[in-house]
Amino acid sequence: MTNEKVDVVIVGAGASGSLYASVLAKAGKKVVLLESGPDWELSDLISSEIWGRRIKPAGAPIVLEGKNPMAYAAQGGWGVGGAALHYYANFPRLLPTDFRTKSEHNRAHDWPIAYEDVAPFYDKVAREIGVSGDANKKKFEDAIAPYVARARATLPDIKQRFNKGLKKREVLFVTIRLHGPDNKFEQVYVEVKAWKDTMISGLLSSEPTLVKGHQQGEKMVVDEKDVYDWTLSKPDGTEEGNFVGNFLDTYHP
Ligand SMILES: Cc1cc2nc3c(=O)[nH]c(=O)nc-3n(C[C@H](O)[C@H](O)[C@H](O)COP(=O)(O)OP(=O)(O)OC[C@H]3O[C@@H](n4cnc5c(N)ncnc54)[C@H](O)[C@@H]3O)c2cc1C
Repeated sequence: MTNEKVDVVIVGAGASGSLYASVLAKAGKKVVLLESGPDWELSDLISSEIWGRRIKPAGAPIVLEGKNPMAYAAQGGWGVGGAALHYYANFPRLLPTDFRTKSEHNRAHDWPIAYEDVAPFYDKVAREIGVSGDANKKKFEDAIAPYVARARATLPDIKQRFNKGLKKREVLFVTIRLHGPDNKFEQVYVEVKAWKDTMISGLLSSEPTLVKGHQQGEKMVVDEKDVYDWTLSKPDGTEEGNFVGNFLDTYHP
């Protein structure tokens, strides 16, 4: 083994090293993984704070200050599997706006890539490690995405028209989401009363049925980036916009 020629040597058999090894081996490369920690068996891994210490604290304890200071040693993970042996099983993704912090918040820098560039890789990893979530919500989001995009692309135009002054008895609504516990949300209309910079002030014009704690007529302040749709209601009963709304009228999941 020591003298065997290999194509690639990877140091560390954590999530990253193991993944590289798997991809390279599948591509026909001869790979060796060097790991300084134990080669764990599944039976060595017991889910408990005390037994978890066997897979090693990550560095010196952090001393938490205060009246009754205490030390907290985070667990790191070593051996085959590395830190992923006891990670918390959260699988958060960066948000599309996280890639545009400079343009959105005038802070730090924009990334040279967008969420859309990394999304297929997030999907791939999620499939490989079996991340589960709300499949219906994903289906819904995918279905409405083109209509949300149309609404957002035309938002600057309707904002300009609103601020120039709408015609008599025309009313502008924006569609936003109210969020409740357990990831619940519902889309509601807000009648626009003022639109200054990126902030919209208005009145909640639909009665929420799913998310508690809001009522029709309530004053709302909404950031433009949280708008999903807009609807301009005209005195003759016709409307403009309502891209998502019109789609949902005929959408059967
Ligand atoms: C308690 C905890 C909870 C976490 N929860 C989450 C979560 O919920 N969601 C999430 O996305 N992420 C989570 N993480 C982070 C995630 O687990 C890590 O980012 C990921 O596992 C890192 O993988 P890695 O391969 O880059 O590094 P590691 O897993 O650290 O792998 C490095 C490996 O290299 C070995 N090694 C080091 N030095 C040498 C050497 N000189 N020679 C040979 N081998 C060496 C180590 O033993 C280790 O096995 C958590 C991490 C911890 C510690």
